[in-house]
Amino acid sequence: MEKLLNMSEPIIQEKSELVKLQSAGELRKTMDGYFSRLREAAETGVRKVAWCTSVGPAELLYSMGFEVYFPENHGAMLGAGKNADKYIPSAVAHGYSPEICSYLTSDIGAFLQNETPLQKSGFKSVPKPDVLVYNTNQCREVADWFGFYARHFNVPILGIHTPLCIPELTPEIIKTVADQYRNIIPSLEQVAGRKFDMDLFRQAVALSHDGCVLWKEILGKAKHRPSPINFFDSAIHMGPIVVMRGTQYAVDYYKVLLAELDQRIQDGISAVPHEKHRIYWEGMPLWYKLSSMAKLFSKFNTSIVASTYCNSWVFDDLDPADPFESSALAYCKLFIVRSDAVKEDILQQLMIDFSVDGIIYHESKTCTRNSNNLFGLQNRLFKKTRLPFIEINGDLNDPRCFSEEQSIIAIETFIHQLSGR
Ligand code: SF4
Repeated sequence: MEKLLNMSEPIIQEKSELVKLQSAGELRKTMDGYFSRLREAAETGVRKVAWCTSVGPAELLYSMGFEVYFPENHGAMLGAGKNADKYIPSAVAHGYSPEICSYLTSDIGAFLQNETPLQKSGFKSVPKPDVLVYNTNQCREVADWFGFYARHFNVPILGIHTPLCIPELTPEIIKTVADQYRNIIPSLEQVAGRKFDMDLFRQAVALSHDGCVLWKEILGKAKHRPSPINFFDSAIHMGPIVVMRGTQYAVDYYKVLLAELDQRIQDGISAVPHEKHRIYWEGMPLWYKLSSMAKLFSKFNTSIVASTYCNSWVFDDLDPADPFESSALAYCKLFIVRSDAVKEDILQQLMIDFSVDGIIYHESKTCTRNSNNLFGLQNRLFKKTRLPFIEINGDLNDPRCFSEEQSIIAIETFIHQLSGR
């Protein structure tokens, strides 16, 4: 792979300007490559297209020769493009409540309006699926979301149903989920027009594991003080681990990013130029405010060093020697699927590992599954850690649920309080 970074040219970090990661260029190329493979498959039919949930069985689908499209990634693109509120009303008029997942409503609304940011990359529309595959480990909404498209395109829909709020990963749970992986294979073979190949599956699981380990190392660089990367960088650079997990492309990209972060540490370059406070972000990103929030925290010399969201794509339990059971384990171990008691333990450890000074809970109006301050966890965690926290109300995609002025005042006050500690 072409090495784009010129490590011999030191970057001079001035005032409170955020320094863009140089790997952004390579990230763009990696993502462009992904979308052009997808477009080719959709336009020529040379490969089948599977739609998959963001923490669904991507490895299995890649191993069977599918190009894999992720509607949640598309939802995030709509949010980041600040267009979600334009599309949500169309889904609402179609019977979908404005209270449910705004990825879902903005994605279906954009589809009903025959618009997609992918049109800028030469797509006529989103790539037509040959099959839709979901895992309910993150939420039940994904089944309803994919159901809309299964009906519209009249194509098969396959689901893995994972128990929720798992306190302990028992052998029974792992077996139930691993069996569901095995059970969808005959239907996938029919759509793919080819037989499942265990060696190719092992290969995809191994690549997914390697990509996840690199991603974990990248996130782990934020343990360094000052941190060379923050939440806003990670939310952008997580693209390959979401959509190319199980391919060499993700592994190649994360080697480049990791090298840049090591170099940043060596050169004393930090994500926030004068890092003073270190914050944990609990909940979804505010996609439509990513850049202004990044600038806001930088102005307050505050680095968001870790987050539940970005840390969720670390499936390092994947094991090519035992691909079905290890896939079941990895995707049931995911933070969002666990009980509050397990989540508290995970969060407590992250606060220590990343030397966190305080926590921001983003209560996302349309995603209760990714809002962990609804059942008292924030107070219980405070008792254990004594770390101050604030809760802000917003939403992942729908800007109408976010009061910017009120949130900025709350964040500013919170950071002043941290300074006084
Ligand atoms: S986890 Fe939340 S944001 Fe993600 S698909 Fe489910 S409801 Fe939507």
